Formats: sequence, structure tokens, C-alpha cells
Amino acid sequence: MNKKKLLSSLPSVDEILKSEKGLEWQETYPRRYVLKATREIIEHNRQAILKDELKEISLEDMLPHIRHRIERLSALSLKPVINATGVVMHTNLGRSVLSEEILENVKRVACGYSNLEYDLEKGERGKRYSHIQRLLNEITGAESSLIVNNNAAAVFVCLTALAKGKEAVVSRGELVEIGGSFRVPDVMSASGAILREVGTTNKTHLRDYEAAINENTGLLLKVHQSNFRTIGFTKQVEIDELVTLGKKHGIPVMFDLGSGCLIDLKPYGVHIEPTVQEIVKSGCDIVTFSGDKLLGGPQGGVIVGKSEIIEKIAKNPLMRAVRIDKLTLSAFEAVLMNYLDEDKAKAHIPTVRMLLQAVNEIKARAKKILTRLKREIKENVAEMDVIEDSSQSGGGALPEIEFKTFAVAVRPKKLSVNRLEERLRHGNPPIIARIKDNALILDARTVGDNEVEGLVKGIEGAML
Ligand SMILES: *Cc1c(COP(=O)(O)O)cnc(C)c1O
Repeated sequence: MNKKKLLSSLPSVDEILKSEKGLEWQETYPRRYVLKATREIIEHNRQAILKDELKEISLEDMLPHIRHRIERLSALSLKPVINATGVVMHTNLGRSVLSEEILENVKRVACGYSNLEYDLEKGERGKRYSHIQRLLNEITGAESSLIVNNNAAAVFVCLTALAKGKEAVVSRGELVEIGGSFRVPDVMSASGAILREVGTTNKTHLRDYEAAINENTGLLLKVHQSNFRTIGFTKQVEIDELVTLGKKHGIPVMFDLGSGCLIDLKPYGVHIEPTVQEIVKSGCDIVTFSGDKLLGGPQGGVIVGKSEIIEKIAKNPLMRAVRIDKLTLSAFEAVLMNYLDEDKAKAHIPTVRMLLQAVNEIKARAKKILTRLKREIKENVAEMDVIEDSSQSGGGALPEIEFKTFAVAVRPKKLSVNRLEERLRHGNPPIIARIKDNALILDARTVGDNEVEGLVKGIEGAML
């Protein structure tokens, strides 16, 4: 057939839309994507004819391409992935994982009306924070509490409310950067507080803070070195010393804890992560921490501390800009309920469970994954075995702690390990794994029992 004839035999958009398949697609998918995909595939074929790459045209051949294109256009962008990296609070993979049980509570509250800002006792307007204040106070031992969208917002609103136009004193060893966009000096200047640096990178003494105090000092700020450590010839001032100093001069003391650990991790070999309860007990006026790091809840920023100061923060107009929504609030309440009994928190909060799970449990899961993989993938396709390895907590917390773990190491024989990693990443669901010593490492710590089949199918498919 000549080009002209071929071109004129291309089906029209209308023809395809009115065909049986076209009508079916318009029922299932957004009409604009059906139209867009149809146009694109027709155009693609037209170009192929012009370049002499296509010698025949058939509607039958075009339909699967159009369908594929429609599916890609209509797929949701934010979707589940299998996290085989072993990093529990993976900042790029959604940080904390919520349980079905917690989501049930969200569903109950969000799929209907609720008493979000209604006081059922008094029959008048209520406060949204009231729903979790009681729990937060109970668990942390604080007098009062607030919750906002994330910890960055919590720090920001506290600085604005307590130290705008005044000096906030911070050690040079604590001017930290967390994950790119949160940098203490920048947050400080945006909040209107004046940064008053004291001490040096490695050593800061109490006398450095004391010497910096003047009539314009608004706040003594301590920031947890969440994601790094200084070792060697170092000194930072302990929170209780700072509290004593603050009391002496009538200046509030704030501690940005970052992670917000509510469970004592010492029995698990982690000695440098203070609990929120310890810091509150020290007499610190304000403590801020994340909802979705070690705490294992939804994204949020918690502010706990002395009632008088919490009230001052609550009145700041910025609170409205950073206020938390009802979905997060209901998830938070359900997560916190588990913390009333520490054992429940360890059993029911996925982040906490994955972080603290027994090594032999991880090993058993790694073995199960290996057995399933070996059933599907022949020895001439890949060499696979269970290895001992270490995982990190992630989420900008516990940087120096290596949690012992078990993983399946996969060495593909018919394709490169980089190609395998890439194919898994493009899979459905995508599987995210790391490469080490020319093997793909599937860390069993972060793979749920209900994800094993998906993982095995994904790897089997990627080997083809
Ligand atoms: C993580 C962290 C933050 C930011 O918390 P987000 O909840 O991510 O906004 C602030 N300060 C410290 C010390 C942190 O570790």
C-alpha cells in the first residue's frame, strides 16, 4: 500500500470512540484521557507511516496501544510501594506506616460529621485540640499540649509566639539542618526571632548561655542532634542545667526533640535518644516533636509543656495557618491510645513494631521470602540466599545505630543487578531495594507478611 492510501485508512478519533471498546473505555476511564490517548496513538501511527516504518494499518493492532496509554494516563500518581530497604521511617517512602485499625478510626470520623469543634457537654463551640490534649498530657506528663501540621511548623509557631523580635539563644553545635529545607538558623530568621549563637561547634558551656542573656532574651532553645553526632572533645549543656538557668532569669526554655520517642529505647541498646517524658520531667517549658518519626503516627507536630506558655502559643494567629485537619487528628488519637500501654504500642504501631521486632522474626521472614523465591525462580536465573545485614531507622533519627537484620541477597544471572533494581522500581507495585556487593538486597525488616507474595511476583516478573 502506498503512503497516501495508508494515511487515509487510519481510523478517525470518532470511529474509535464510537467503537465497542471506545464506548466501554468511556464508561470506565475519564473521557478526556480516552480522547487524549486515542489522538496520541493515531498521531503516532501517522508519523510512523510518514517515516515508512508502518506498512499496514489495523484497528485491532491499535486498540491495545490506546488502552495501555489510557491506563497510564488514568493511573493514580501516589500509590503504595514495597519497601525492601529496611529503613523503617523512610522519608522518601512515606515515613511512618499506619495500621488498618488506626485507619478504621479515621474512616469513622471522616466519612460523616463529627464533634471536631463542638463541645457536646455544653452544646457550644469547642476546640479541635481538646480531643488529644488529655491523651498527650497523660502520656508525656505535660501540663498542656497542642498539635499542628508537622514539627517544622511546631518549631516555627513556638519561635514566633515566644521570641519574635527577641533573641533566642542556641548553641553553635545545635544549628542543625534536617532533610534539606529545615535549617534552624533559617527557620529562626523566618519566625522573626533573632538568633543568638553561643559556644562553639564542639563545645558549649552553661556559662556561654548565661553570658548571652540580656533584657531582650526571649528564649533558650535546645535542638536535638537528631541526624548526626559530634564525638570526641565535645560538650553540650544538658536540658536540666538549661532549665535551672532559665528559671533563674525568668526565660522560657524550649527543646526541639525532633523525633519524639515515647518509649525508652535503652533496653534495645539505644542510649542517646531521650524520651519526651524525660524532657518534660526536667521542667523544660516547651517540647516539640514529630508525629511521624519514632512516634509512628501521621504527619504532625506536637507541642507539649507548661499551660501558661501553651496558651500563649495557642493564641498566636499563625496557629490557624498550621492547624491540623480532622483526618490527622483522628489518626493521632488512635495512635496515642496505644501508648497508654507500652506493650500495645510495640505490638500495634507498625513503625515501632518494625523497629523493635526480634531479629529471629526478621530472619524467619527472610527465609520465607527465599523459599518462595526459589520456588518461582530457577538457579540458572539467579543466585539467592539469606544474609545477615544491618538496617537504619531513617527519619533523621538514631543515625549511628545499626539494627541487626536479615535480608535476601539476589544475584541475577541474565541481567545486571542495576537493571533488576530499575525494573522492580518500575513494577506494579513498585519494589524499592538497595544494591550492595553487586547483589540486590531485600531487607525483611520492612516487608510486611501481606507483601511477600507481591514481592515474589514482582521479582519473578522482573527476571523475564
Ligand atoms: C525532623 C525534625 C524536624 C522537622 O520535623 P518535621 O515533622 O519533619 O517537620 C525539626 N527538628 C528536628 C530536630 C528534627 O529532627
